[in-house]
Amino acid sequence: MTDNMMELMVKLHKDEERQGPGCAEVTRKAFKLTGLDKDKDLKIADIGCGTGAQTIVLAEKTNSLIVAIDLFPEFLSKLEEKAATLNLSNRITTKVCSMDSLPFAENEFDLIWSEGAIYNIGFEKGIHEWKRFIKPNGYLAVSEISWITNTRPKELEDYWLAEYSEIDTMPNKIKVLEKEGFSNIEAFILPQHCWIDNYYTPIQKRFPEFLDEYQGSDIAKEIVDYEKEEIRMYEKYKEFYSYGFYIARKI
Ligand code: SAH
Repeated sequence: MTDNMMELMVKLHKDEERQGPGCAEVTRKAFKLTGLDKDKDLKIADIGCGTGAQTIVLAEKTNSLIVAIDLFPEFLSKLEEKAATLNLSNRITTKVCSMDSLPFAENEFDLIWSEGAIYNIGFEKGIHEWKRFIKPNGYLAVSEISWITNTRPKELEDYWLAEYSEIDTMPNKIKVLEKEGFSNIEAFILPQHCWIDNYYTPIQKRFPEFLDEYQGSDIAKEIVDYEKEEIRMYEKYKEFYSYGFYIARKI
């Protein structure tokens, strides 16, 4: 993707509550599955946080200190505004950096969190690189697009393999985690309302205004067409894929 395209993608998504499928109950459920004590002073990294829907849920549910990371400062500013309004700024700090060059120390975190973002560097690479920042017996909680049936129509498979070649079944994602030395792995499937009500419906409403703002921009049109195609695929084939949420302990 060109820089110009990235910039417009950020403009399209920055006023939305979230930049990927998810919901507060799912974040809370995944946290609970870690078994970590919410009343302890946990240190959490939220990687690819976007405007921080899940960062806020984690901060409200726990006593933790959270470092929220994203490549785009415009998303982080939105999170900072929300944190300030909710009096959470003392427990949420933000950092602009890329998820493949995180400036953290070994064993720094009790928990590494990432919703709908690890695909940017690939599941295997992300897990391999982030593992060293997690304390022994600490946790990784990550959502990743996954096949939820054993077989699927060719049109869908071709579409997603071209978009993200690491898309795979949930058992195969779990194998990757095991290979990287994680144990006590739990996984569940994001419900459809996380995609439709919380992500696709709001962004579809924004398309006309966005096209109006960037009238004459071929890139803006290209972005909207690209996103419309993704939504069309989901509407047609939502029985076959979703995000899997994977929760795993570092041995
Ligand atoms: N977790 C948020 C955002 C998911 S969208 C939510 O669920 O709503 C994916 C996020 O990853 C975007 O905010 C995007 O800006 C960020 N991102 C993309 N490439 C990145 C990179 N290399 N390093 C850090 N963040 C990145």
